[in-house]
Amino acid sequence: MNKEIRIQDDLYAYVNQEWIDKAIIPDDKPMTGGFNTLVTEVEELMMKDFSLMNKGKLAIDNEYMKQAIALYRVALNTKKRNQDGLKPALKVLNMINKLQDMGQFNRKLKDLFINDLPLPFKMGVDVDMKDSTQHCLMLMGPTTILPDTTYYKENMAQQKEALLGVWTQMVTMLLEKTPLSKEEQTLYISDALQFDQIISTLVKSQEEWSEYTKAYNPMSLRKVSGLFKPIKLRKLLTVLFGENIPSQIIVAEPRFLEGFATLFNEQNFLLYKHWAYIKFLIGSSTYLSEELREIASLYSRTLSGVAVVPTIEKQAYNLASNMFSEPVGIYYGKKYFGEDAKKDIIEIIEEIIATYKDRVSKNDFLSLSTKEKAILKLDKIVVKAGYPDQTDQVYDKMIVNVRSSLLKNVMELEKITFLHNLEELNKPVDRTKWVMPGHMVNACYNPTSNDITFPAAILQAPFYSFKQTRSENLGGIGAVIGHEISHAFDNNGAQCDENGNLNNWWTKEDFQQFEKKTEDMIEQYDGIELPWGKVNGTLVVSENIADNGGMAVTLEIMKHMPNASYKEYFINWARIWCMKARENILKLLLQVDVHSPAVLRANMTPRNFQEWYDTFGVTKDDRMYIEPNKRIIIW
Ligand SMILES: [Zn+2]
Repeated sequence: MNKEIRIQDDLYAYVNQEWIDKAIIPDDKPMTGGFNTLVTEVEELMMKDFSLMNKGKLAIDNEYMKQAIALYRVALNTKKRNQDGLKPALKVLNMINKLQDMGQFNRKLKDLFINDLPLPFKMGVDVDMKDSTQHCLMLMGPTTILPDTTYYKENMAQQKEALLGVWTQMVTMLLEKTPLSKEEQTLYISDALQFDQIISTLVKSQEEWSEYTKAYNPMSLRKVSGLFKPIKLRKLLTVLFGENIPSQIIVAEPRFLEGFATLFNEQNFLLYKHWAYIKFLIGSSTYLSEELREIASLYSRTLSGVAVVPTIEKQAYNLASNMFSEPVGIYYGKKYFGEDAKKDIIEIIEEIIATYKDRVSKNDFLSLSTKEKAILKLDKIVVKAGYPDQTDQVYDKMIVNVRSSLLKNVMELEKITFLHNLEELNKPVDRTKWVMPGHMVNACYNPTSNDITFPAAILQAPFYSFKQTRSENLGGIGAVIGHEISHAFDNNGAQCDENGNLNNWWTKEDFQQFEKKTEDMIEQYDGIELPWGKVNGTLVVSENIADNGGMAVTLEIMKHMPNASYKEYFINWARIWCMKARENILKLLLQVDVHSPAVLRANMTPRNFQEWYDTFGVTKDDRMYIEPNKRIIIW
């Protein structure tokens, strides 16, 4: 802790500054500290195991892990990767290049689609937000080259130019490796940028995506097909689903669909083709030679400010542990996470839910009927902690071909998971499925199943430990648990009922009051100036509501606890947000991340609570003070 900084002025710096001053961000990472330190530790631990298993020095206990290790081995084979160079990608690149017109495109559409090749739209199967026992088909636009549509606005012109400059430099180097002539290379780049520019006018910004309930726009297949004209959508769906073709499609981005004709038409066909060629070239280069991989990472490394490409060993581990995420998470959980810890965590979660219910029942802004519905929703929350008992069936189909190139393997495995996802369309939703694997340092609330997930990897210090005091654990994992529960009642979650269906369970007056509180929360953060930019209060509001709720419920538990130490609570709260990051990534996150910057999560949340003022004697002369009438507690 830093004795020169007063805790009353800056809790975050008081707790973390000394560590931050000394910390060194790993060359191949954009940040370190808190969550990120745990991510690196899990990575190091698991990389050792992968290496031992690959060398036959550690037994592999199941078929799924055998396949994960096989993929790891294929990725590690730099000799083959370097010898092959661009070759494994050429077949697809040539296929894209030979597309002459819309007719040919439509004839190839199924192949393009199931192989996840670049298309002017994206489509997949998701849980139906209105009936969360069923699936639906969801349609959206492609992603832009720049990380968000806001980068295409005039006030960002400088950044836009700089970033697209780096992108162009990278693509130029990649295209030089292809059979295209110099003139063609130049044309492909300018066409791709032109196509991307049109996409940016149609798709949603991150701020728009952050209101996820607005992605639910059911439209009849007839209407969607009409707007999708040059693409034979009905034909594609018939080939994919046979007679069970859906009569309606959920359009996540209505503006995109309405304007689709301006993007994809006979005149723009070459723009599309050249855009798709480059997009596939960048994506596939990651899995090709060391040289191509390094070039292809230039743009993403610039975005996050990272100078060095991760080693091949790291790439091999991360690829295998993502592709086989569930079995790898189960392996991690069984080996490194104790049953005692799991039992303890579930008890803590249950206590927090019980306290949450108590707080809702005493809440002074809701009417009785709304309170009852909120409590029902809390009663129905399903808790997932540690790792799942079962492995998803998709992994039975995922077989690695060790003789094949890495790219071919990755494409085949992705195709298997994609087809598996499509097959779900006419099947009921399996609520026992986990959305995060055991080795992931994160936690989440799933609105369509009303469940919360805490993977094994987050259930360690500083979030949680037998060695920490109960107050420290409450300021760490306790507040995170309360945060995830609060997502059931943030500006999005509040629109879904106890079964995870979009359904209004509020009285009109209660919801108006809630919306007013949401507005206050937007205002509390909006426009806060940090050395690297300004906060967009609307983008981060749901996460701030969740942080606020997580602190409210854990402080309530502290109130009834013998030997509660608020000092330990707040200090550990600040510790979990410790972060040292490169400036580029900080700027990027400000534009695209729905979470507030770590320093604000640590420093803004406490000042809404009287306990903060009482514990450290914070007065209006201190920097971490806000007027009592500006303090917000929602849940
Ligand atoms: Zn959250």
